[in-house]
Amino acid sequence: MQGRCECGQIQFRVDGDIEDYSHCHCSQCRRLHGAAFASFAGVQRDNVTWLCAQDEPRLYTSSPGHERWFCGHCGSSLAVTISNEPAALYLALGAIEGNPELPAGYHIFVGSKAEWYPITDGLPQFFEEPD
Ligand SMILES: [Zn+2]
Ligand SMILES: [Zn+2]
Repeated sequence: MQGRCECGQIQFRVDGDIEDYSHCHCSQCRRLHGAAFASFAGVQRDNVTWLCAQDEPRLYTSSPGHERWFCGHCGSSLAVTISNEPAALYLALGAIEGNPELPAGYHIFVGSKAEWYPITDGLPQFFEEPD
């Protein structure tokens, strides 16, 4: 499985499966992805190989312990890491090429979702994070 940012200066390869599939409706994801929600593919951090310059991807701390990984050239959102889940990396699903195999998905932070976007699928919804 592979992916890249929009400009192509950052490429990545993932060995192993996507273990977690979520749509996050929090206001930070909505702004950072410029969208109604952000979709993430949770993988083992050690399974991801970044092919890019040493100083990429850039990091932005959106809240304590939450690092947002993005391309310093085109600005594409690429991933999120959370300090209390050091083995995990949540890739921006839109940056992954093709049609990867996904586990069952779910919605998180629907308590702060955009009012103009109705969720019409039958996936589980969590007000904040799953228990
Ligand atoms: Zn880029
Ligand atoms: Zn979010």
